[in-house]
This record gives sequence, C-alpha cells and structure tokens, in this order.
Amino acid sequence: MKEMLLQNPVFGMAARQFDQVADFMELTEEIRERCKWPKRLITVSLPVRMDDGRTEVFLAHRVQHHLSRGPVKGGLRYHPNVDLGEVAALAMWMNWKCALMRLPYGGAKGGINCDPRAMSDREKEGLTRRFAAEITPFIGEEVDIMAPDMGTDEQTMAWIVDVYSTNAGHLVPGIVTGKPVELQGSEGRREATGHGVAFLAMRALDKIGCPVDGSGAIVQGFGNVGTHAAERLSWSGVKVKGISDITGALWNDNGIDVGLLGEHVKSTGGVAGFDEAEAIDPDEMLLQPCEVLVPAALERVITDGNAAKLKCRVLAEAANGPTTPEADAIIDERGDIFLLPDILCNAGGVTVSYFEWVQNLSRFHWTEREVLTKLETMLEGAFERMLHFAEERQVSHRTAALCLGVHEVAEVKKKRGLFP
Ligand code: NAD
Repeated sequence: MKEMLLQNPVFGMAARQFDQVADFMELTEEIRERCKWPKRLITVSLPVRMDDGRTEVFLAHRVQHHLSRGPVKGGLRYHPNVDLGEVAALAMWMNWKCALMRLPYGGAKGGINCDPRAMSDREKEGLTRRFAAEITPFIGEEVDIMAPDMGTDEQTMAWIVDVYSTNAGHLVPGIVTGKPVELQGSEGRREATGHGVAFLAMRALDKIGCPVDGSGAIVQGFGNVGTHAAERLSWSGVKVKGISDITGALWNDNGIDVGLLGEHVKSTGGVAGFDEAEAIDPDEMLLQPCEVLVPAALERVITDGNAAKLKCRVLAEAANGPTTPEADAIIDERGDIFLLPDILCNAGGVTVSYFEWVQNLSRFHWTEREVLTKLETMLEGAFERMLHFAEERQVSHRTAALCLGVHEVAEVKKKRGLFP
C-alpha cells in the first residue's frame, strides 16, 4: 500500500514535501513514520441509477490521515481525476493545515471519481445519497466531518445531512460543514476560503510595500474559491485582469468586472464567451505581468516549465498543491516572489468550517461580521507565525508553514505515546 501511494504523483509530491520538512526538523524515524502515513483509507463502490436507466458504479474514497488531535476534517471532491493517491495527499495537507491554524482536527479528504459537469442534478443526488449511506459507519460529528471541495457545494452537504440525520432519527447538523445557512450552516462559510485568500494576498502586498489599490491580479479557476477571491480583491481596488476556468481564459488590462462575469457564468456555465474581455491562451495567462497570481483550480499547475517565467510579486496558492517541488525550488532560487503556501492561503475555508461546527455543537448562531472578524484574527496569527519562523530559521514560507503544522502533530503523537 505504501508503495502504491508513493507511485501516485500527487501523493509522491506531498510525501516529498513532508520528507524535506522531517529532515529539516530532524524528526526521529518513529515519529516520522507515524506522521507520514494515513490512519484509515476507505474505498466504497456506489451503484447509481442513471437518467437513461443504466446502473453505473462509481468509486469513492475517504482518507482519514490521523485522529490524534481530534476528529478529522476535510472536503469532498467530485472530479474525473480523483483517485486514492490524490485523496490521500489532500488528506495529508489538510493535516498540516489544521495544525498550522491550531484547529482541534486531524486532516481528511474524500473524492468520487465522476464528472459532475456531465451529470444531471438527479444523478448527483443519487450518487451523494448512496455515498452518504455507505460512508455513515466511518463518520460522525466527533469522528470525521466533511465539507465542500471541487465539484461539490452546499446542496451536496445538505443531502449528506439528510441521509445521516434520517438514519440517526434526529437532525445532526454537525456531521458536515459548508451547509446552507437555513440548515444551520455558518454565515460567511461560502465566501470564507476566497475571503482568506484575498485578505492574505493584501497582507503580502503590504509586507512587500506594494499598494493594494491599482495592483493587478490573475485568477485561475472561477468556482467557489476563485470567484470570492476575485470579488474581494476587486472590492479592495485590485484590477483582476485575467480569469480562467475549464471553459477558457479571459484578459482585460483595465480589470474584469467580476460581478458581471459571475452573472455570465450563471447563465452559460463558464467564463468563455464573456464579451467584456479578450480570450487568451490559459497557459499564457499565468505568465502575464501582475502583482498577485491566484491559482484556484487544480494541483500541479506551477511547474518547472513555467515557474521561471512567472511575472507576479505574490503567489497566493488558493488551490491545494498547485506548485510542484521542482517549481518550488525555482521560486526559492529566484527570491522575488512572496509565496503564500496553500496550507495557509486557503485555510479560511477550514477555519470557518470549524466555526460552523462549534456553532452546531453549541446550538448557537454567529453573525457574518463575528465570523469574518474571528477568521481574519486567526489568519493573521498564522501568517505572522509563518513569517517569524521563516525569518528566524532562514527557510522558505512553505517550509516554515509545513514545519509549524508538522511540529504540532509530532508533539501530540509523542505525548500520546504507543501501547507498551
Ligand atoms: P469549484 O469546483 O467550485 O471550482 C473549480 C474551478 O476550477 C471551476 O471554475 C473550474 O471550471 C475550474 N477549473 C477546473 N479545471 C480547470 C483548468 N484546467 N483550468 C482552469 N480552471 C479549471 O472548486 P473550489 O471549491 O473553488 O476549489 C478550488 C480549489 O481550491 C481546489 O484545489 C480545492 O481543493 C481548493 N480549496 C477549496 C476550498 C473550499 O472551501 N471550497 C477550501 C480550501 C481549498
């Protein structure tokens, strides 16, 4: 199983990042092994009746990386590339992210190998309900709490609440986060990840002495995270010049009207064909001059093929794992890009998910203002801890963020010990 995971390119990347950090921290072999490997890998098959009457069987995975610091927490992804190795990598990154943010969670991730864009709402509902039913024995408010990720949304979470609660015989809102507000979701959760990305990008601009007003940004991915990050950057005076999604890429030197583009996407399903910007090659878009580059879609899009050609001042990693280790080395060597590593940059989502869970367990409802103020305080704390560590130990921002996260986990493992 270990070999199989290591052969997966995304898990291989997460494992290499971990090994580098473990070497730097001089972790003992025992602690290193206990931190590195996932505790539970669960795969279930999901027979679903499709609209044309066929039965299709989908494979779904849930990986719970470790349970030492509390219940596990992490998103559920629907995408045609999902496999066990990718899910395990994302679970490992969630681990370090929760620990960096000092949230009382271990990391987890789930994914179903499917193409949600090619499925009807009825098929997606059937798939989600079947998954919720199959995974019920392995989750719980105190065990594993899911949230939306790529290809899933508030509606997906609502179906999971319904299946789990129907089985329990009473409403269990804390079984997932990122639910609709009407179903005890949190104010501000929908916007939280993008809000955090924009907040940290502006803190980074401030650190490098670059005025926010009039800066330019490029955003790859116009889903939940990309839309809210772009929106919030533009509200603060940043010109969002380039935006792409799976249907194409757009450019407007004067800044794209993010609200109008949102309307266009709602009615057409993608950014392509928006007539207030020019079409641009999606790979070329990433290389245009800008102050802030926000990859908010997939893993491994900043590679050794394009890292040397980036013309941004801040690289705000809204997606998980957008930068390969080879590209990281190039960015380190260049020294002119302020990196906001994924486990910090997109931590707004899990932080407000934590707030949602706390509200659910305490049967309490906070205002959006309370939520976003608390979020900014927590992000600011982690941002400063990362900068302090990086400066003191003369390491990259990614190494600093990972070290802080891995340290929290390693200490808990040491304190809890093993059976004699
Ligand atoms: P989403 O499904 O809402 O949006 C994904 C976007 O990426 C869509 O606009 C899609 O068209 C675009 N996309 C897909 N393939 C693309 C390609 N090849 N080129 C350009 N764009 C492409 O997903 P999301 O929730 O916004 O998640 C985006 C990223 O952020 C993922 O890496 C996810 O793991 C990460 N993330 C999400 C959250 C969250 O709260 N949703 C939290 C932390 C991290």
